[in-house]
Amino acid sequence: MEPIQEIAIDCPYCGETVSIAVEADLSGDLIQDCEVCCNPWRLRLTRADGHLRAEVASLDE
Ligand SMILES: [Zn+2]
Repeated sequence: MEPIQEIAIDCPYCGETVSIAVEADLSGDLIQDCEVCCNPWRLRLTRADGHLRAEVASLDE
C-alpha cells in the first residue's frame, strides 16, 4: 500500500478542487486549510476496502 495517498477535495468555500496528501493509515477527523483560499476545512477520513474517502465541511457549519 502506498504510504501517502492523494485525495481530491472540493473546497466548500471557494469551489476549487484541491489535492491533498494524507498518510495512508490516517483516519478520523482533522482540520486542514484550503491551499487556495486558506479557509479551514473539517475533514472526515474514512476507509472501506482500502479506499480512502474524504468528506469535507466548513468549520462554521
Ligand atoms: Zn478554498
